[in-house]
Amino acid sequence: MVENQRKGMQLVKCMNHDPENSKWGDYAPEGGCKEKMYIDEKAAKGLCWRCTSRSVGNIKGESYTVSTEN
Ligand SMILES: [Zn+2]
Repeated sequence: MVENQRKGMQLVKCMNHDPENSKWGDYAPEGGCKEKMYIDEKAAKGLCWRCTSRSVGNIKGESYTVSTEN
């Protein structure tokens, strides 16, 4: 299987794959989120649109990313 690569993007697991260490762990599905998503390569973590929409109770189909600040 070949994954499509997107320039400047990285494929990561939704940060809710590990709900205990996620700020949004409350919105993770049971057993952790299995979603993968592309985020900006400069971003540290991403929350997939499923968990995002759970957190806001409003499905927009958008993903949410968190930037690293060094
Ligand atoms: Zn998720």
